[in-house]
Amino acid sequence: MINTSDPIVNLYLVRLIGADGVNIIKKMPPGEIVDEVVAAEVGIDINGIRRTLFKLYENRLASYRRERNPETGWLTYHWTIHLDNVENRLDIEFEKLLGNIKERLTFESDNTFYVCNNNCARFIFETASETDFICPVCGEELFHQDNEKLMRRLSGRISEMDSVLRS
Ligand SMILES: [Zn+2]
Repeated sequence: MINTSDPIVNLYLVRLIGADGVNIIKKMPPGEIVDEVVAAEVGIDINGIRRTLFKLYENRLASYRRERNPETGWLTYHWTIHLDNVENRLDIEFEKLLGNIKERLTFESDNTFYVCNNNCARFIFETASETDFICPVCGEELFHQDNEKLMRRLSGRISEMDSVLRS
């Protein structure tokens, strides 16, 4: 079983299923469960449990099998939570994030940026030149913005993350 008190795992889970969801899974008994039974036993709202379980399912952190009652035709969901997959999901998230930061850095280095004194928005050269370097929001002049610092910060972040991946 994964340690839900690990700060990174916890943060990931809170983002995914909310603090309520995390509390719900902490109360779940180990092994296969039936949502209605758990709801009654632990005294949590059935919709909260279902929402949490489906969210986990979408992220491959839970699976279910359905059984139809031959008499009533009702479906029962038997759920299994696979929190051991969290590490895997975190790795995927991490690589996605790293990819986004790399893309952002490329965008920053491929473009020239313009801003006004009121910081209404940030415009790339092509957009700024269309309005003759006048801010379309406030009408003030647009100035070139130095993004060296930002690029250095992004590169720093990338090398940090790359070194984590390699370790
Ligand atoms: Zn402006």
